[in-house]
Amino acid sequence: MKKIGFIGLGIMGCNMATNLQKKGYRLTIYNRTKEKATELIRHGAIWANTPKEVAKNSEILITMLSTPEVVQEVALGTNGFLKNMNKGSIWINSSTVNPSFTVKMGVIAQKNHIRYLDAPVAGTRGPAEKGELLFLVGGKTEDIQEASPLFDIMGKKTLSLGKIGNGASIKMLINQLLGQSMVAFTEALIMGEAMGIPKETLFNVLLNTPVVAPVITAIRPKLETNNYEANFPLKWIHKDLHLSSISAYEQEITAPNLNITKEIFAQAKQQGYGELDFTSIYQYLHTKK
Ligand code: NAP
Repeated sequence: MKKIGFIGLGIMGCNMATNLQKKGYRLTIYNRTKEKATELIRHGAIWANTPKEVAKNSEILITMLSTPEVVQEVALGTNGFLKNMNKGSIWINSSTVNPSFTVKMGVIAQKNHIRYLDAPVAGTRGPAEKGELLFLVGGKTEDIQEASPLFDIMGKKTLSLGKIGNGASIKMLINQLLGQSMVAFTEALIMGEAMGIPKETLFNVLLNTPVVAPVITAIRPKLETNNYEANFPLKWIHKDLHLSSISAYEQEITAPNLNITKEIFAQAKQQGYGELDFTSIYQYLHTKK
C-alpha cells in the first residue's frame, strides 16, 4: 500500500481520511487544529508537526483545505509541503478552488517534478462519511489511474474530465447552480408562506414539479426543522460563488444572477450566518420579510 499524506481535517477531510484509514492505509496527517486529528491518531495515523513533514512521508498527498489562499500558504509558505515532496509523487488537491488557481498549482507542481491532480468533490458531510463522494478529476490519465484506489474508497464515482482545470471548472459550476437554486427556492417558499399556504403544502407540491432542483428535496429536512448545524458552511458557498465571479471576470463574460446570489450570501455571512449550514439562507431571508 502506498504511503498517504492527508492535510486538512475539517468536515470533509476528516471523514475522507477516516475512510482511507479504515481500509488499512497508514496515514501521515497534519491539520492546523490538532484536536481534529485525535481519532485518526488514536487509530494509528502518524501526526506531522508541519505540512513539510507530511510531504517527506508520502507517495500520494491529499489536501482538503478551505480556500485557494490557504492551499497556497500550506503548499508554498513557510514549512509548505510542495518543495519537500518526493520527486514523482502525486498531489491530489480536493479543495474547491477556482480553475485558474488550480492550473497555476499544476504548473508549479510540474516544475517541482510532482504529478498534480485537480480533484474536487461533489457531495457533503453525509457522502463523505459513507465514502460516496463524486470525484471530478482533471489530470493525466495514468496519474488518475494510480490514484483511483483512493478515489474508490472515498467516493462512489470518479469522472476523468481531461486537462487540469476541468475538475475545478465543473465543481465550481455545480456550486454556482446550488447557490442559485437555493436562493430561488427560498424566495418562492417565503412568498408562498406569506400568502398563507402551509409550508408542508408548498414542499409537497413544489418539490413534485420539474421547476425545483432535486437537491432541494435532500435539504428539505433542514428547512423543516430549522436545524442549521453545518454540513456545508454558508461561508464556503459564498467563497465558491466568489470563485465563479472571478472566473466570469477572467473569461470576460457577464453573470448578473451569479453576482446577486453571491451578495445575498455575503450579507447573510455579515449577519453571522457564516458558520451555519448554507441552507440557513432561508432563515436569513425569512427574517428580512
Ligand atoms: P472546514 O470544515 O472548514 O475545513 C477547512 C480546513 O481548512 C480545515 O482543515 C482547516 O483547519 C483548514 N484551514 C482553514 N484555514 C486555514 C489556515 N489559515 N491555515 C491552515 N489550515 C486552514 O471545511 P470543509 O467543509 O471540510 O471544506 C473543505 C473544502 O472542501 C473547501 O474548499 C470546501 O469548499 C470544499 N467542499 C466542502 C463540502 C461540504 O459540504 N462541507 C463539499 C464539497 C467541497 P482547522 O481545522 O484548523 O480550521
